[in-house]
Amino acid sequence: MSEVRHDRSGPGPAGGYHGVAESARALMAGPLLPELGGAPHDVLADVTRAFAAGSVDLTHPAALARMQPPSLAVAAAAELVVATLNQSLHAWESGPFALEIERFVTAELATLIGYGSGAGGTLTSGGSVSNLMAMTMARDSVLARRLSRRPGQEGVAGLHRRPVVLAQEAIHFSIGRALRILGIGEDQLIPVAVDADGRTSAADARRVLFGLPGTDLPLALVALAGSTDLGVIDPLRELAEVAREHDLWLHADAAYGAGALFSERLRPLLDGLSEADSVTMDLHKFGWLPSSSAMLLVKSRGDLQDSFGLATTTCLTSADDTEQGYHGLQGESLQTTRRADAFKILVALRCLGRERLSAMVDACHDLAIHAAERIREEPRLELVAHPPLGAVLFRYLTDDPGKADEVNGAARRELMATGRLLLARTHLVDGAGVQRVYLKLLFLNPETAPEQVDDVIAMFLTTARRIEAEG
Ligand SMILES: *Cc1c(COP(=O)(O)O)cnc(C)c1O
Repeated sequence: MSEVRHDRSGPGPAGGYHGVAESARALMAGPLLPELGGAPHDVLADVTRAFAAGSVDLTHPAALARMQPPSLAVAAAAELVVATLNQSLHAWESGPFALEIERFVTAELATLIGYGSGAGGTLTSGGSVSNLMAMTMARDSVLARRLSRRPGQEGVAGLHRRPVVLAQEAIHFSIGRALRILGIGEDQLIPVAVDADGRTSAADARRVLFGLPGTDLPLALVALAGSTDLGVIDPLRELAEVAREHDLWLHADAAYGAGALFSERLRPLLDGLSEADSVTMDLHKFGWLPSSSAMLLVKSRGDLQDSFGLATTTCLTSADDTEQGYHGLQGESLQTTRRADAFKILVALRCLGRERLSAMVDACHDLAIHAAERIREEPRLELVAHPPLGAVLFRYLTDDPGKADEVNGAARRELMATGRLLLARTHLVDGAGVQRVYLKLLFLNPETAPEQVDDVIAMFLTTARRIEAEG
């Protein structure tokens, strides 16, 4: 990697889209499957060198665009073990010990959430799939309970009530996509208002529920436990009460915010998480694990089996084997062949320990607070909110307010093309109800120093000023 570092001035490859596409074309000039294969060492070395040179250096303090942490070295080593042993979780004989590791890891993390002994969980490819699985269980369990319907078998066509899901607007787009896939439809997502801090209002959720026509059947309330943009954490305990009153499934999306569970300081923000019927959790965000290291945890293990278990005897299920304990985990997952991702989680968490993991999460939160304070002091920058976790939203203010979107967008693109600074971009509705471009700093590198954050902000300001001046 040192070769890569030397010809870089930042976390990204220089030369922008065209530069990277060109070097990729040069490397891949030959066919994917040549007539005669090459020497493994040479092929691996050549391709790795090019891949690394064109990749984002996640250890760089200016790599702030996405929820990708630098991987722990021990977790990367554990990945190699996972790939070498190549176990799978679908049948007992495909990964006997891997099954036990996954059961152990999900049970321990369920306990960390505060779930009881009936809890279950499964590793997934990411928060998006965890959210899809949660919405599937919400649909299946509520329709079974309320309408004696078995949607897995009968589908949702011809229902005499319209299934709806309640959530505020800042939920992750994968929830809407899940409703599309499930035949519920994204139009059935009913918005709930937020309070001054962007948290879902329990009072408004009640108001919406009481106002629904009798032909609507509310299935679920989706709570934010760390929103993708600001890191907003909903009042989980209050929302759990609303869900209980109305017999709804409560899903908490903690894909990003689960990191707070590991921090002594931030953990109280997640009070009430154990009241949710399901929780999405990514350890490839806060957790410092390579992707995929994600899971869905459920309060009641039976719900997973009801939605994802195979109803009939297949090549993977036979009653007598299952009775004797010889069964895999395919009945609790969307996948069949599935990696032993729990192994690297086990290794990484054992190595870190609570104290160090807590300090790492806090260090990222501290960097976000530092950045927010720095932005607040700068008259040309507008801070969106005090950061609850490790994400900071802001934008550059132009003399002509009409130019702000363009200048912010162009400054981000220029810094990305030169590889010097990687920022995320998002949209927020401003006080006047207009969608505006905002930029985002995502802190997931606990080794970054506050002075490096100052440098990043100064670099952004210089670029934005110059772009504004050039008109
Ligand atoms: C990142 C994120 C997701 C999606 O997770 P993937 O692992 O990228 O699929 C879902 N919800 C929230 C709140 C997230 O931040």
